[in-house]
Amino acid sequence: MKFDIMTLFPEMVTAILSESIIGRAAKAGYLQFECHNIRDFSENKHRTVDDTPSGGGMGMVMAAPPIYNCFASIINNKEVKDEKRRVIYMSPKGQLLTQKKAEELKAYDNIIILCGHYEGVDQRVLDEIVDEEISVGDYVLTGGELPACILVDCVSRLLDGVLAAPECYEDESIASGLLEYPQYTRPAVFHGVEIPPVLMSGHHKKIDEWRLEQSLLITKERRPDLYLEYMRLHPPKPEKKKRVKKPKGEAPNE
Ligand code: SAM
Repeated sequence: MKFDIMTLFPEMVTAILSESIIGRAAKAGYLQFECHNIRDFSENKHRTVDDTPSGGGMGMVMAAPPIYNCFASIINNKEVKDEKRRVIYMSPKGQLLTQKKAEELKAYDNIIILCGHYEGVDQRVLDEIVDEEISVGDYVLTGGELPACILVDCVSRLLDGVLAAPECYEDESIASGLLEYPQYTRPAVFHGVEIPPVLMSGHHKKIDEWRLEQSLLITKERRPDLYLEYMRLHPPKPEKKKRVKKPKGEAPNE
C-alpha cells in the first residue's frame, strides 16, 4: 500500500508518520508514504497557493490549479490501476472515519490524500479529483495534516506485517464490536491497588469471562449504541430448562 499525501506542510506529516510502529513498518517495506508539497506546483512566481473567497468572507481558500497539478504529477508516475486507487479529501464535511471504513480502504493499492488548510479548497478541484471526503470527528481543526496521519495510521495497522498478528487489532475496542476491557501490567501493586486477582490466576477461561464481562459493562455505560448492536448480534442463549424425570408409570405431562 502506498499513501501519497498532498499538503502544504509536508514536514508535519513526515514527522508523525516516521515514528513508532508506522515508521518502523514503512522502513521495513510493509507500506510506503510520500508527501507532496502543493506549493511546488503553484503556477506563479510567488508560489502562492490560495486566494480570497469568491463572494467575500473571512480567510483564504486553497486554489484549484496547484492541487490539480500536484495530483496529476502523482498519477502520472503510477502504474496503479484506477480501481485500486482512492482519492480522499480530509474534511469536516466528510463521512466519519470508522474501523469499517479503514477495513474497506485496506483493499486499495494507492490512497492519495488531500489535506486542506485555511477556509478549505476550491470545490471545482474536489469535484474533479476526489472520490470521497472523510472526517476524523465532529470538530474543526486548522488543517488536514493531523486527520491524514490518523487515516494513514488507522489503515496501516491493518496491513500484513505492520502489527505482530491480526489478533492485535481484531480483539480491540470497536473492531470486536465492544470497547476493550481494562488492561494491567506489573507491578502487581501500584499505589496500594492490586491487579484483579483473576488476571494473575493463569485460568484462561476465567480470564476470558472476566474480560468479556468488563467489556460489556464499559460498553453499556459509555457507548449504549455499540452495546445494543452487540446484544442484537449476540443475543444471550436461553437457559436450558432442566427436565424432571417422571417416575415410571406416571401419566405424561399435558
Ligand atoms: N471552512 C471549513 C468548513 O467549515 O467546513 C473548515 C476548514 S478547516 C479550518 C481547514 C482544513 O482542515 C479542511 O480543509 C480540512 O482539510 C481540515 N479539517 C478540519 N477539520 C477536520 C476534520 N474534522 N476532519 C478532517 N479534516 C478536517
